[in-house]
Amino acid sequence: MKSHYDVIDRGISTEYERLNESLTRSIKILAALDYSFTNYYQTDGVLLLDHNNQIINGLCHVWPIDSLLRARGKSDVMTAVDIDYRLVGDASICDPSSPLFQRASKQVSLAPVLSFLHDLDDYLLGIHYFDTEGYVFSSPDTLVKDVTKEYLASLKSRPYWKQTARNRDRVTVSGPINSLLLGKTVMSMTVPVHLDDEFQGVISLNVDIDVLLDKGTSLSSEIRIVNRELDDVPSNAIRIKEVDFEGVVANHVFFYDLDVKKELSFFFEIEKYTLLVIFLTYIFLVLVLFYVNINMERSHFKELADKDAMTGLLNRRGLEAFLARTMHDKMFALAIFDIDDFKLVNDTYGHDVGDNVICYMADQLELNTRNHDAAARFGGEEFIVYIQGNDKQQLMKALERVKQAICEDSHKVVNNGFTISGGVEIASPSSSINFDVLIKSADEKLYQAKTSGKNKLVY
Ligand code: GH3
Ligand code: MG
Ligand code: MG
Repeated sequence: MKSHYDVIDRGISTEYERLNESLTRSIKILAALDYSFTNYYQTDGVLLLDHNNQIINGLCHVWPIDSLLRARGKSDVMTAVDIDYRLVGDASICDPSSPLFQRASKQVSLAPVLSFLHDLDDYLLGIHYFDTEGYVFSSPDTLVKDVTKEYLASLKSRPYWKQTARNRDRVTVSGPINSLLLGKTVMSMTVPVHLDDEFQGVISLNVDIDVLLDKGTSLSSEIRIVNRELDDVPSNAIRIKEVDFEGVVANHVFFYDLDVKKELSFFFEIEKYTLLVIFLTYIFLVLVLFYVNINMERSHFKELADKDAMTGLLNRRGLEAFLARTMHDKMFALAIFDIDDFKLVNDTYGHDVGDNVICYMADQLELNTRNHDAAARFGGEEFIVYIQGNDKQQLMKALERVKQAICEDSHKVVNNGFTISGGVEIASPSSSINFDVLIKSADEKLYQAKTSGKNKLVY
């Protein structure tokens, strides 16, 4: 989701850059035209004589004779520019002796430039020059073919005309409006033309907003522009960006018109393989976890089966497994410990104290044996201890130490404490060790200890 969001964010940035470039180019076109208009007033000429003219519905229409244009003196080899413009204004413009004819004549040499520039970008619908004297020339010519007297008369009272006239030396952005005439959404960028401080007219560049904002297939929702004087930015808008250019008067913002539904379907479309991989990874992980869980449960139950529930020591099964997997490559002792007169403890202090004694005994065995030794409870109050050592003396010493440790602190669990007896079998490493036999003979030695006074180990 994050990476998809980054893609959208980058897409919006790229689009904003493109829009920035487009509008900057449009502004440059306007600046170039303004410059040209202002300068060309100085040239003399009767260029309108080289044009067709005709009065239609009381207005004079002037348009070029040749639809291809070459500068004077250029040969046929030079690519000719397609010419497509028309001047429409008061009927007197068609009369070469009228002042309007003189005025328009000077400006019309710029019309080919209009024609050329309006073709530069596909979002440029057209470029017009509206003169204060009530005539207009426009490229492409289709835009003004049907212009009426009323339209020309109403021009100067339009808000954007007044605004443009006020914003001297600056580009005024107005619209976007839905043009019924063109069937398009049009935003206009205008500059006023001045000659010696006198306002002459307005150059206007019309932008087809739908073409300008068309973002192709890289984004699923639309990029839009609103004039904040006319409309509000919708609440779902993100990445709101001011239309902010040097020398431009605009109250417009671009924004990304976030449509969650579209974004989601775009997300699933674009990320379908990523999602598939995530889904398969998820299934895989679930299976792995399932497998691990089953194994853990199995080893948990196995442990339970190997251990004595009350003391946590190994039980008979656990001890057998331990002995089977241990390398008996050193001398070792197998001892059976049995608490002396345990029945008496139970009878005197109750079974609970008896249980505590058993647990205490288990703790002591655990404490006094090393990691590779083992202590087990064989039921009741009988315990088996397996320890390894280098020689018989060392093993005997270790077992006596264990016995002593148990007896020494035994008064902590039961009044007057208790003693233990043990039968010990010591064996050397050999290939044929039979633990059943060893345990049996240790048990016999335990019996000897019990019958010869208890509180002792018999080896
Ligand atoms: P001896 O010195 O000859 O060993 O005498 P003893 O009284 O200890 O006799 P024996 O070892 O036969 O006693 C086993 C007694 O241990 C019998 C039983 O009541 C008791 N016992 C066995 N398991 C448990 C247990 O889990 N908890 C308790 N509290 N007592 C147990
Ligand atoms: Mg006993
Ligand atoms: Mg016993």
